[in-house]
Amino acid sequence: MSTPLFEVKQLDVEYQMKNSRFMALRDVDLEGYLGETLGIVGESGCGKSTLAKSLMRICSPTHGRLFFDGKEITSLSSRELRKAIRGMQMIFQDPDASLNPRMTVEGHLKEAITTSKVAHEGTVEEYIKELLNMVQLPHSVARMYPYQLSGGQKQRVSIARALSVKPKLLICDEPLSSLDISVVAQIILLLKKIQEEHGISYLFITHDLATLRYLAHRLLVLYLGRVMEVSPAQDVFSEPLHPYTQALMASIPTPDPDASYEPAKLCIVGDPPSIVDPPSGCVFHTRCPYATESCRHIAPRLKEVKPNHFVACHLYDLS
Ligand code: SF4
Repeated sequence: MSTPLFEVKQLDVEYQMKNSRFMALRDVDLEGYLGETLGIVGESGCGKSTLAKSLMRICSPTHGRLFFDGKEITSLSSRELRKAIRGMQMIFQDPDASLNPRMTVEGHLKEAITTSKVAHEGTVEEYIKELLNMVQLPHSVARMYPYQLSGGQKQRVSIARALSVKPKLLICDEPLSSLDISVVAQIILLLKKIQEEHGISYLFITHDLATLRYLAHRLLVLYLGRVMEVSPAQDVFSEPLHPYTQALMASIPTPDPDASYEPAKLCIVGDPPSIVDPPSGCVFHTRCPYATESCRHIAPRLKEVKPNHFVACHLYDLS
């Protein structure tokens, strides 16, 4: 494989609450490559968004190192950081929260373009047309305010604004979850097309495995802030190895009677334990049907079980 576009090494993120502290992420390693979609999946509260925010340094790492586009960004000053991560943009779940209701679409795009100086003054109008075209919005939308747009149109504007600075990495934090089901497929197709045409990488965070089946090249499965499995997406979908991933996969309705992975009778019961007081040993042992005594005491390490397929589970200790 080529040099990674971004890397996270041994990342820990600890949050301080009123009377306690807890680890939102522990010992997370990952890397992503140009033109690739790395899907991050897991239940609510597993640390997916913390991971995205850490990469942008919106959250400060407690321990570990972060790299982007050939440069270590772990402890850069805010000024150095702004420059170093210009090629990294984020799309959020709720486009309403990230758009200014008093600003037109053109205003949003102009602001991003002029701040980042990606186009000469005389070419800004033309560039805005190009961006709207990229996200398949008519140019007439440029004069509109967010309240005049549908949810899908607002998310397209957010995508156009993120693309305006010509990013290499787009972090997509549940960008489809607030949209009507009727526009979800359109946005997925749009993101796929943009990636094919511009070679952008996506770090795509979602709890929806069906979306990742279509978009992701590789998958990373998180549970209570720990990495359970990392692998090429097709391997995880055809043969998930970690019991938690198997349970997640078994929960996807499959319309294909010839699907290669026959969901086991594995289903996880109950809610995830509190991240503030995680179980000892393997954090999944309280819900895992295969848990043994050693699972309750010894945390499994992530190891390569097959080429490029990493799993943190004692079931694979001897393989
Ligand atoms: Fe289950 Fe043990 Fe594997 Fe954890 S280490 S997933 S408890 S079998």
